[in-house]
Amino acid sequence: MSLALPLTLKAAVSRDCWSYRGTLGTSTTRFSSVMSGLTASQEPLPLSERLAHARAILGEVPLVDGHNDLAMTIRKVVNNQLAQFPFHQDLTKLEPWASQTSSHTDLPRLRKGHLGGQFWSAWVPNDSQYKNAVTQTLEQIDVIKRLVDRYPDDLQFVTTADGILEAHAKGKIASLIGVEGGHTIDSSLGVLRIFYNEGVRYLTLTHTSNTPWADSSVSESGDKGQHIEFDGLSAWGKVVVKEMNRLGMLVDISHVASQTMKDVLNVTRAPVIFSHSNARAIRNITRNVPDDILVRLVGVSSSGWWVSLRQAGGCLFVRLRENGGVAMVNFFTAFLVDDLNTASIKSVVGECLSVNLLGSHKRDELTSTISGRWRELITPPKGLEDTSKYPDLFAELLLDPSWTDEDLKKLAGLNIIRAFREVEKVRDELKCEDPWDQPIPREDIKDHLHCVNT
Ligand SMILES: [Zn+2]
Repeated sequence: MSLALPLTLKAAVSRDCWSYRGTLGTSTTRFSSVMSGLTASQEPLPLSERLAHARAILGEVPLVDGHNDLAMTIRKVVNNQLAQFPFHQDLTKLEPWASQTSSHTDLPRLRKGHLGGQFWSAWVPNDSQYKNAVTQTLEQIDVIKRLVDRYPDDLQFVTTADGILEAHAKGKIASLIGVEGGHTIDSSLGVLRIFYNEGVRYLTLTHTSNTPWADSSVSESGDKGQHIEFDGLSAWGKVVVKEMNRLGMLVDISHVASQTMKDVLNVTRAPVIFSHSNARAIRNITRNVPDDILVRLVGVSSSGWWVSLRQAGGCLFVRLRENGGVAMVNFFTAFLVDDLNTASIKSVVGECLSVNLLGSHKRDELTSTISGRWRELITPPKGLEDTSKYPDLFAELLLDPSWTDEDLKKLAGLNIIRAFREVEKVRDELKCEDPWDQPIPREDIKDHLHCVNT
């Protein structure tokens, strides 16, 4: 299926949120229902009033960010020694934190930004694959949990969709863990289950290199001398996805090759997420999401149905394979625009628009939500310089009357909470399914047999 975004849309959303109205209104009937709420241009409210309205929305529903690399920064700077990390202080004024280009985060800025929930990323370098990736990942899970424990008045560790709402109702930032990169499980379903039991609620299937069971987006581009090995997911990679469905762990397909995205959508029994990705229609790089995948994210898969028939004991489910996933828009400059110097808050507004236009035509749900990806933002988008600026983004979106308050609430957090809840529902339906326990085939590990115990 090819549903290329009209060139007029790309040109329009890359300018600003006023100018695309007239262009899109006549571009194609595919967008007509989405755009029908547009009215003639009217005087925008002053920024102060829009900011007040944005803050009111973020008081009602939690703003959930899909990816923050703060834990990696803590590892890099103080080797996870939290006594040397004064999270409650203004780190823009305190070295060595002030000069870090990763995270752009401290508690005062998170509070100013009205953040309601955060998937803290437990990422470890790709070159730890076949070495100590599991140890490092467990250390990152540990440091996130210790950080949450140190600031009980501000942070609350949660592992459920309801937990996000409960923490927000108490005025705390719901803190979740997402593990970034399938290399972290060392091709072990046992390690995957241990991560889940430690509270991990998403796993990104690859980072910037292939795992022995999934191709990454870097292989698709051919960068760094990498190449496609599995044409997507290997047979064992499909088992990883099924086990994640059974556990109730969100399958994150940011970073993977487009064929891997397709294979995941064909095999998953629950909604998937892009924890930090943008639309290729706007910035055509392999790290972003192709149009047809965004459409499939909310549509019915080509395979139509999924059935669970594994158990002799009668575990039988037949369900329409409708994904209902979300793409969490990434602020990372290089994924937003061709010319990095032009990245601004309006670029992110354009991403939110394009992701939703492509994803929402089959279903009355917005597809996107927010993912700051506050990492290596040497030149952050103008107007979105750090984690205090989320309300500014919503104030910018309020310039466009086609974004209703209900839309903005979905964008802030209700979309990811809806998808998370559906993942939990599938987990509950699969209770009678035994854990998947077949080891990865030896031949898939290739020349890394030292990792295999049997
Ligand atoms: Zn990433």
